[in-house]
Amino acid sequence: MFKMTPTILKNFLTEKATRLYPFEIREPYAHVRGELVNNSETCNFCGICAAKCPSQCIKVDKKSATWECEPFECVYCGICVDACPQESLSQKELYRKPSAERQHIIIKGEIRPEKPDAPVA
Ligand code: SF4
Ligand code: SF4
Repeated sequence: MFKMTPTILKNFLTEKATRLYPFEIREPYAHVRGELVNNSETCNFCGICAAKCPSQCIKVDKKSATWECEPFECVYCGICVDACPQESLSQKELYRKPSAERQHIIIKGEIRPEKPDAPVA
């Protein structure tokens, strides 16, 4: 006990190394790859992002022009962002906040022609 006393006192008197997340959120690092965002104005529902996603958390239906994502299955790898020929996907510099409920993102739009210089998947 006496051996531990200096350590106990030090822990009481110094700043805590941990935070009370999610009530205290640290400022994200610069260029952090966070929450995925799809721009319904530019997405042409080609499905390349869904084919490349290692988590298989994106579904695209070209016929109904629907893009769906299970955000809590996303591992923030950014592969879909790099693969999107329309540059329609981006990642915020923030992670999605924890939630007690399952979330599902659905974007509906219209089929658009591909960019002329879009790479072939
Ligand atoms: S790769 Fe880009 S354009 Fe194609 S469905 Fe995904 S977000 Fe839309
Ligand atoms: S960031 Fe990675 S895991 Fe998340 S949707 Fe894109 S490809 Fe899938």
